This record gives sequence, C-alpha cells and structure tokens, in this order.
Amino acid sequence: MTENDVCLDIIHAQFNELVEHYQGLSLHEDQPGRWIVRGDLTFRAEYNGVEMAGTFSVLITLPDDYPASPPKICETGEQIPREADFHVYPTTGNFCLGAQIEVRRKFAQNPDLLHFVKDQVVHFLYALVYRSWFGKMPWGELSHSGKGILEYYNELFHVSGHKPTLHLLLALHDRVFHRTWMCPCGSGRKLRKCHGPQLKELVAHCTPEDVLSDMKTILDYVSPKNTNADARQP
Ligand SMILES: [Zn+2]
Ligand SMILES: [Zn+2]
Repeated sequence: MTENDVCLDIIHAQFNELVEHYQGLSLHEDQPGRWIVRGDLTFRAEYNGVEMAGTFSVLITLPDDYPASPPKICETGEQIPREADFHVYPTTGNFCLGAQIEVRRKFAQNPDLLHFVKDQVVHFLYALVYRSWFGKMPWGELSHSGKGILEYYNELFHVSGHKPTLHLLLALHDRVFHRTWMCPCGSGRKLRKCHGPQLKELVAHCTPEDVLSDMKTILDYVSPKNTNADARQP
C-alpha cells in the first residue's frame, strides 16, 4: 500500500464519519489527487442557552498534505457577504476561522473532518447566524486581519502593544531558543522562566511561513502609512 492509499483511506473514513452527522455533504475528487467535500451543511447549536440553526452551501478543500494541515472552507451559496465584518476573505470567499496558528492548533488536537466542522465551522456559522439576528457577535470576537491578528497574539502571549509580540514572533520564526537568553518580550526575565516553554509548544503548530505572514500582516497594520491611527497603540 502506498502513502497515497493510506491518505485516501483516512479521507474516506473521515468523510463517512462526517456524513453521519451532516447528511447533505458529499466527497469528490475535484482534480486528480485533490479532494473536496461539498453540499449543504445544516447545523443546530446552542451557546449560553441561545439556540441557532441554519443551512449553508459549503465547499471544503483538503490540502495536499492533509491531515497534516487543516482544510479550508468557503461558502458557495452567497448567503454571507464577502467582507471583513463577516470574517470572509473577499477574494477567495474562505472563512476566516481565526489566526492560522490557532486554526492549526485546534485542528491538531483532533485532526479529522468531523471535529473540524463541529468545532471550528459550526462555531463560525453560529456566530454569523447570531449576528444576523442580534446585530452583534455572540462572543468577544476579534477584529479581522491586522488588528485581529495582533489582538490574537497579544492575548496568546499576555503582552500589550505590537513590539513584544513582533519580537516573540521573530523568535518563533527562527526556532532557536536558548534557555539562558533574555526573553524577547522585554520582561527582563530569562527565556526559560518567561515565554520559552510557550514558544517551544507553538513550534509544532506553525510553519515559519505562517509566522512570517502573520508578522507582515501586523507590520502593515502598525506601519505609519496605515491610516488607522488607532491601530498603533492597541
Ligand atoms: Zn476575520
Ligand atoms: Zn517573555
């Protein structure tokens, strides 16, 4: 059996599990070797006693290295506006499920289609339906793009402002952590007593390219050229 057959078995088994819960979906080989799941995703979910339900036409694309990397999902029925307010990327229509590192981290805990849909996609759709009813997101939602990515990392690292986060991300990108170094966050403590353990844990959940791309997004956002003046002192 080749590596490819093993992957195919995994995809088929995962799809069968998924379709037991979400009957409207089907599995296709879109191009040779590229697998997609598409159809109507009907969900019902409850958060803080408020139930929301809906049906969305979706397209889930499995990356070449699946299940090492999480799938991407977009909506095909044009029910959701493709704009930042709705956390949908305008060009691709892909859902913005959060910072890429967070999507990977969640997916790595249960790397299968059912958990991806149940935990990440339904969470996202619940918020959208809630928003259409009440005009706001049901939970503390991060801003989209640069501001949101910065807020995400500030929260993750428990720091404020963009400098400590950028220094920590640079260390994460380089992937070299000497225990005796001073922590790049600027706390004045040794790496091993500060962000060292967290950075080591994060290495497994991001590629250097992911980190670089998030750093660029943050740099663009805090750059003086950016007219969002409030952006510079989050
Ligand atoms: Zn977003
Ligand atoms: Zn630190």
